[in-house]
Amino acid sequence: MSTLPASDAALDVLAIAAHRDDVEQTCGGTLLKMAQRGRRTGILDLTQGEMGTRGTAEDRAREAEEAAKILRVSWRQALDIPDGRVENTFENRLKVARVIREQRPRVVILPYWKGRHPDHYTASTLGYEACFLAGLAKLDFGAVSLNAGDPPAALRAGRLQEAGATKLPPYRPFKIIYATIYYDVRPTFVVDITELFETRFQALMAYKSQFSDQDAGKDLFPAQAEIRARIEAMARFYGLLGGVTYTEPFLQKEVGLVEDLTLIPVKSI
Ligand SMILES: [Zn+2]
Repeated sequence: MSTLPASDAALDVLAIAAHRDDVEQTCGGTLLKMAQRGRRTGILDLTQGEMGTRGTAEDRAREAEEAAKILRVSWRQALDIPDGRVENTFENRLKVARVIREQRPRVVILPYWKGRHPDHYTASTLGYEACFLAGLAKLDFGAVSLNAGDPPAALRAGRLQEAGATKLPPYRPFKIIYATIYYDVRPTFVVDITELFETRFQALMAYKSQFSDQDAGKDLFPAQAEIRARIEAMARFYGLLGGVTYTEPFLQKEVGLVEDLTLIPVKSI
């Protein structure tokens, strides 16, 4: 029934976030861990970063490509939603829904639905509603253009031609989880990234225009050593909750389903 190519085109995990470099901070270690386990991972950035104090959208595109390589991500793309103006409109939901149909992720990682930055919490609702929309059989993509950035050929592998997008069959991810590191909320589970912490940090540091020590925006941006200290403290805190060294925190709305009580991880006393 499906008109799509073989299942290798589908992603196992797709992380959706407002800005390039968000995923590197919220769930990059988890994506790398999945890739190491043979899973096919992807990142959809909703904006291209043109409002950043430091660097241009082109700088950020190059840096995002570098970070994706470090995290062994198979697919990455940035939509053309305006930076600083991520709005949950029907048009934007369609843009994301189209990617969901193209990439058919089993799991979608969204930002948590509360936070300081409006782009972050709006991306959460927008992403959820787009996942719902993508499953509606009669959804009409009409004339909405994807107008994506121009990711490198290697990262486009498996992507369908845009001309055929309106014929993509309805699809909904099986699981939606929320990366919570930007907000003070108790996660429902954490992913052990102890072995991957350094690599994840290198992926973030690939955004040299943002994180290298420099004069532009000096009052707004902490020095690199301070960034590292903060990131390590957060990973360590959530690591403690999981009984390991470093983790990334997530929340699922559903309850956990257990087969064998003796295999439930994380010590109680
Ligand atoms: Zn952000």
